[in-house]
Amino acid sequence: MNIFEVLVGEWGLTRDAEFRADPWYIVADKEIVDSGFGRPPKQFMTRRLPSGVIVPGFVNAHSHIELSCMRDLVPHGSHLTEMGGIIQKNRGALDDLDIRQAAVAAIRRAKDEGTFFFCDISNSTEFIRFLRDLPSFAGNRYLELLGFSSPRDVERIAKVRALLDVDATFYPTVHSVYGSSPLQMRFVREKARHTSVSIHLLESPAEIEFQYGRGAIVEFLQNIGQNVKHPEMKDRSAVDYLHSLGMLSFKKLLLVHLSAARTEDIDMLNEYVPHAAWVICHRSNRHLGIERSNWASLHQASLKMLIGTDSLATSPDLSVLQEMRAILGEGKISEHDLLRAATWDAYEYLEIPMNQIPYFLFAGAKPNIESLSTSGPATILGRAP
Ligand SMILES: [Zn+2]
Repeated sequence: MNIFEVLVGEWGLTRDAEFRADPWYIVADKEIVDSGFGRPPKQFMTRRLPSGVIVPGFVNAHSHIELSCMRDLVPHGSHLTEMGGIIQKNRGALDDLDIRQAAVAAIRRAKDEGTFFFCDISNSTEFIRFLRDLPSFAGNRYLELLGFSSPRDVERIAKVRALLDVDATFYPTVHSVYGSSPLQMRFVREKARHTSVSIHLLESPAEIEFQYGRGAIVEFLQNIGQNVKHPEMKDRSAVDYLHSLGMLSFKKLLLVHLSAARTEDIDMLNEYVPHAAWVICHRSNRHLGIERSNWASLHQASLKMLIGTDSLATSPDLSVLQEMRAILGEGKISEHDLLRAATWDAYEYLEIPMNQIPYFLFAGAKPNIESLSTSGPATILGRAP
């Protein structure tokens, strides 16, 4: 029996993220080994697929799968620090099995819409090991160090250090300028500098106020007894502070949000880290009442745009397709740029090997994001249903 088969479809996505008619895919042992457009290679058995659109899988560059059980707990319009408080309050009270079941369901739902890879942030050492062993999860796992003041930050470092000694498959990372102490930043820099870091940066205007020692984040830190003044941060903007600590000198740098980044912040990032990626989580921003006004300056910056969803605490799902649809609705970023960010740009930036990328058939769909996002569950090409 010939193990090679050529699947022929109606619409596909080119490597430049344009929709094009008549795609073909050579499948060997359930894996796509080659693809193209136009007349399919003649030497193999050919099978015509149902009409519709075939796309390579989408990458979710920022999620917290661990928080999937927090759906509906954070009311629409909550402030960033209110969300932090709600998550912190509920975290300890949740059942481990509920956390895991909600996580599995969220991954499945996203996969039904073509999302197959996550850059996921965990806060607990148990959950990061759960994800490692979960067959339906693919992606980078980051373990976040939270704790803005001592001794919380030191305790957390000790825990992460102990896990790193027995498991080198995850990346330690920091939460944000206000969520992780300078000591934790130095620890992460030392442990993970040659790899990858993911940091929430300038998510809301409250972070600009924080650098001047006032506003909602300062109040939040006061409430949880962690409001200390670190000398390293004195008179520095968030970007300047991270740069001074060496936190920008990572091989792969995922700067999540930048929703409140000012022109001077973006200029500085352009100068210091032109190779960095920024991750847009638009629906989460909207849920927290955060309006972005820097679309144009980020578009012109050299930073690579990737797409994330953040967690189900602030986003209805982990589907990059639904995220693209929402961003497209703003009329600021083209369909082509969004599709690139969800596929080829993400594969390249995150160094995802081509043979690990599944292709999805959206049967009955037309070649545009709107139609894909409403056409029902997709099926993976070349795999048994
Ligand atoms: Zn996040």
